[in-house]
Amino acid sequence: MHVPLVLTDFLDRAVELYGDKVAIIDDEKRLTYKQLGDRVNQLARGLKEFGIEKGDKVAYLAPNTTEMLEGFYGVYSVGGVMTPLNTRLKPADYQFILTHSESKALFVDEELYPLVQPILPKVPHLKHVVIHGNTRDGHRGYDEWRGSFSREPFSRAELEETDIASLLYTSGTTGDPKGVLLTHRSNYLHALSSMHHLRVTDQDTLLHVLPMFHVNGWGSPFYYTANGATQVMLRKVDPEVILDKVEKHDVTVMHMAPTVLNMLLESYPDRDRSTGKNIRVVIAGSAPPPAFVRKVEENLKWEFIQVYGMTEISPLITTSILRSSEQDRPKEETYRLKAKAGYSMIGSRVKVVNELGEEVLHDGKAIGEIVTRTNTVMEGYYKNPEATNQTIREGWLHTGDMATVDEDGYIEIVDRMKDVIISGGENISSIEVEGALYEHDGVLEAAVVAIPHERWGEVPHAVVVLRDGHILTEQDLIDFTREKLAHFKAPKSITFAKELPKTASGKIQKVVIRKEFWKDHDRMVH
Ligand code: ATP
Ligand code: MG
Repeated sequence: MHVPLVLTDFLDRAVELYGDKVAIIDDEKRLTYKQLGDRVNQLARGLKEFGIEKGDKVAYLAPNTTEMLEGFYGVYSVGGVMTPLNTRLKPADYQFILTHSESKALFVDEELYPLVQPILPKVPHLKHVVIHGNTRDGHRGYDEWRGSFSREPFSRAELEETDIASLLYTSGTTGDPKGVLLTHRSNYLHALSSMHHLRVTDQDTLLHVLPMFHVNGWGSPFYYTANGATQVMLRKVDPEVILDKVEKHDVTVMHMAPTVLNMLLESYPDRDRSTGKNIRVVIAGSAPPPAFVRKVEENLKWEFIQVYGMTEISPLITTSILRSSEQDRPKEETYRLKAKAGYSMIGSRVKVVNELGEEVLHDGKAIGEIVTRTNTVMEGYYKNPEATNQTIREGWLHTGDMATVDEDGYIEIVDRMKDVIISGGENISSIEVEGALYEHDGVLEAAVVAIPHERWGEVPHAVVVLRDGHILTEQDLIDFTREKLAHFKAPKSITFAKELPKTASGKIQKVVIRKEFWKDHDRMVH
């Protein structure tokens, strides 16, 4: 008999096997898996009363809270499509996404409500708004509303695994966010693969640092629930708050962008050295330099794992967890390997190909585009078949990320195609130039972008945030990078900033930095 892979299985398993175990720590509030299951039953009844049916979109605008986590399972219980919204957008963006997604209901955190309040009357499909907090402007207050429904087991909508589970808008790092449709099957198989590679168990305590609205928190609401781990909520990404929670709740694992890990490295020296002693691993996406991996592993004594992926593929498809044959290598060599995106996870075939679609040599030098055939792939971009057909061609999803593959089979991201700087016909990886800048002690953050140049077409420009107490000139840093890099790769100019523009998941938005320089020029999109 065919049993469809449906995401509510993960909650059912947790309720059955770990019913009395602490599922959620949300500030002072603690809930067991049984209590979480009860709340989800109530929510599902409420959604049913709203008339939410299979395929209907339900939008969530909330930080990492209990309400957000139970939202996934409540929405899936009625066959709805979870449509989480980035918490850092502008009202007009919310109007666009809520309209584009045709969301029928919106659940919104009390503190974030003012962001959507002005645009709500302009969103035609939206029939119900519920506030995580108290009743306001005629909209229901969540706890009171949910509390009015029975906790008894809810009779769920019948689903096929090919039904859509999530509509996720991409980070918008390179332009307007695109709506990605993912099926229950894709999210489910991604969760199975991730829980295997990340060795998730019921002894884990996850601190939800990565926002759950960002590609379902890389699926963490699924696989930490399935394994009965304890999940600690985090409203705001603040290094002091993160370290406090790590200390207080004996956190064992965190997922985050390296920019956030970098902030923790900065705050950690002021701490009691026992903070984080239970952390077994931190998992980060985006390519950090090997020196950064060394700092995490040596200063914090936390194992570092890199993962690579994108919203369109649920998202993770590669990991740099060392194989046993690599673990005895000299430490520096292991940091170098972990600074790479790694090799394919179970369920995904990943290759790096040249323009003819042929695999590049595994010599760590030949550059191509990462393409993948994966069980975790999207159905397509919502209402955008052209973009879907451009991205998925002949059964392979084209990531738009350039990479090399070394003799060990480790993929290393060179750059996004859009971020590569083409100077005098030479390709310069912005990531490589940033790596050279990060080697300077005074550099806290760096972003390198292409700016127009009369003679060379484009040249590298860096925007740098200095560490407190360091005084450096543009020339100091240019000279420093020239010692590390070929002359043409070193930044031609550098400006200093207090902070860099970032997406809500912590990614540096080079498109925002570039914009100002390209106002009067056309840039070839590559
Ligand atoms: P948009 O598509 O809207 O511009 P985005 O691509 O940043 O935004 P995501 O799907 O969140 O949206 O991010 C996926 C991208 O993040 C990848 O295509 C890749 O460029 C980058 N990325 C992910 N993991 C890594 C990694 N380990 N190393 C380097 N880059 C990474
Ligand atoms: Mg993208």
